[in-house]
Amino acid sequence: MFVGHYAAAFALKGKENGASLGMLFIATQFVDILFFPLTLLGIERLNLVENFTAVNNFDLAYMPYTHGLLGTLIWSVLFYALYFFFFAKNKVNKRSIAMVMALGVLSHWFADLLVHTPDLPLINGEPKFGFGLWQNKELTFALEAILLIASLIYYLKKTTEKAKIGKYLAIGFVGFLLLVNFLNFYVLPQDDNLVSVAISAVLAYFVLAGIAFWVGYKRT
Ligand SMILES: [Zn+2]
Repeated sequence: MFVGHYAAAFALKGKENGASLGMLFIATQFVDILFFPLTLLGIERLNLVENFTAVNNFDLAYMPYTHGLLGTLIWSVLFYALYFFFFAKNKVNKRSIAMVMALGVLSHWFADLLVHTPDLPLINGEPKFGFGLWQNKELTFALEAILLIASLIYYLKKTTEKAKIGKYLAIGFVGFLLLVNFLNFYVLPQDDNLVSVAISAVLAYFVLAGIAFWVGYKRT
């Protein structure tokens, strides 16, 4: 899953306003941000196999450190600790901020579970899980769109704009995310070079988080 992960970011921001939307964008993609560099280092493994699923060419062969349920849980505990003891330590609601950041990291595994082929381990090796929605392009696109739009509605209800533009920015941003997904699914060719796949993925995560910082700043 790609843009659908950001539904968790919008929903968690709606739940705890003290958390940064930009940092929630980082948190919800955190294990992917680690995964792509680890594949280049040969620590985890992604094979690019043409038409491996209807949506992409990702044969996610080995990724226990980033996409094992235990691994993801450990990263989310780390986020909790970082926020509780450092980034939010002077805030009255630091426990709640740390909790939504941790849930953001953990949400990635469960969102991936819906779409991945059975490639998500609990710890390492078998059994691996994945409901395989990626075998159906239209359903995957629809699921990510529904999750994003529902979370946007919740986010708009639970936050208020500092200026009128705050509302349209958030709506426009979700529209942009859906457009990115559409191009990804239906227009752009599948890239078969691991280095450029990894670099463009990580770059996209940071650019989108940058926009989220800006969008989040316009609402309180
Ligand atoms: Zn992932």
